[in-house]
Amino acid sequence: MPKISEVVSSSAEAMSIKYNNLVYEMKRRGQKVIVLSLGEAFFDIPLMSMDDLPYPAIYHYSHSRGIPELRDRIARYYRERYAVDVDPEEELLVTAGSKAAIHFSMMATLDPGDEVMIQEPLWVSYPEQAKLCHGVPVQIPYTATVRDFEDYITERTRLLVVNNPNNPRGQVFGGWEMRYLADLAEAYDIYLLSDEAYSDFLVDEPFYSAGRFDDDKSHTIICNSISKNFGISGWRIGYAISNPRFINQLLKINQHLITCPASILEYYLARHFDEILHITAPQIRAVVEKRRTVARYLKEVGLDYLPGNSTFYLFVSIAPSALGSEAFCMRLLEEDHVSVVPGIGYGHSCDAFVRLSVGTESVEDIRTGIDRIKALVECTQMVAIDETRG
Ligand code: PMP
Repeated sequence: MPKISEVVSSSAEAMSIKYNNLVYEMKRRGQKVIVLSLGEAFFDIPLMSMDDLPYPAIYHYSHSRGIPELRDRIARYYRERYAVDVDPEEELLVTAGSKAAIHFSMMATLDPGDEVMIQEPLWVSYPEQAKLCHGVPVQIPYTATVRDFEDYITERTRLLVVNNPNNPRGQVFGGWEMRYLADLAEAYDIYLLSDEAYSDFLVDEPFYSAGRFDDDKSHTIICNSISKNFGISGWRIGYAISNPRFINQLLKINQHLITCPASILEYYLARHFDEILHITAPQIRAVVEKRRTVARYLKEVGLDYLPGNSTFYLFVSIAPSALGSEAFCMRLLEEDHVSVVPGIGYGHSCDAFVRLSVGTESVEDIRTGIDRIKALVECTQMVAIDETRG
C-alpha cells in the first residue's frame, strides 16, 4: 500500500462525530436513540426568498475575502453587539466555517514543533488541527485558572486558544479574564485565538469578545461562524477577524484551499442577516433556559457537572463509575440507547466526564436520558465495589 503521512495517519477521529455516526447507523436500523451528543441546536428557520439574489453572480467565484456586503454586515454585528471595531476591508475574512478559520490560523502561526496552548475540556479539533499543522498541542488541565496559563508558556509557544463560551462545559470568561489573557498574549508576543462560536448563547450576562482588549488586534485572532449563533451549521460559513497583516496571510491560505465561500450562501446571508438573527434570538434564549432546567434536574438526581451557564452543553461527571468515559458511553449507547460524548475526547484530565447536549431532544427525553446515565453510573459503581471485595 502507498505510504500515508505519519501526521495524518496518527490523527484521531473527532470523538463527537464518531458517536454521531454510530447514532445515524442505529437510527437507520430503526432503533430509537435519545441523542444528547449532537453539536448543534435545532432552530426553526424558514426558507427566505432567493428571488432577488444577484444573478448570475451567485453561480460564480466571489471575492476570496468574502463578498463585501457580508463582510460589512459581520463587521457591524461585531461593532453593535460586542463593541469591537472591525474594518471589513482589511480585518475580516470569510471562509468555510470557523473550523477552517481556526485551522488556517494555526497554519499561519505554526512552524514544525511550535506549541499551541489549550485548556481542557477542549474542543475536539484543536489538538488534531495543531498536529495537522505540524505543531504541538500543550493541554492545560481543566482544574487550572487563567492565572495558571503562564506556567505552560515556553519559547516555542505561538498560540493560546480559548473557547469562550466553552464547548463542552458552557463556561464563560468574564471581562477580567479576557483582559488577563490579552495582556498575557501581548507580554509574551504570541497570538490569543478566541473561538467565539457560541458568543450569543448568554442570557443574563454580557459577552466579552477578545477584540475588546486589543484595539489594533496585534495579538488577537477571533474566529466565529453562523453554525451556532444563527443555527445554520450546514452552510459552512465562518470568519476570522484580526489585524490586516495576519488576515493577509489567511487570505493566501483561503485562496489556495477554498478560493471563496459558496457564493450563493454568502449573498443569501448578507441579504437576510437581520431577519435570521431576529428569528434565532428567542430560540437561543430558549435553549439556554432549557440548559438551566436540565442543570437543575442533574442536581436533583445527584449528578455533578462543571460550572458554566452558557451554550447548550453540560459536562457531566460520571466519577463514581468504574468505567472510563469511552466504555461508559459505548455501553450507554448499546444497552440504553442514549448517546453522549466521552469526556476523554476533550482532554486527558476529562475521562470522568461525558458531554451532554440539550440542543436536539425534548426536556422529557433528556430527563429519561439522564435517568439512564445515573442508573449506569450506579450499576458500574457497584461492579467496582464487588470486584474489590473479590
Ligand atoms: N468551535 C467550537 C467550539 C465548536 O463547537 C465548533 C463546532 N462544533 C466549531 C468551532 C466549528 O464550527 P463551524 O466550523 O461549523 O463554524
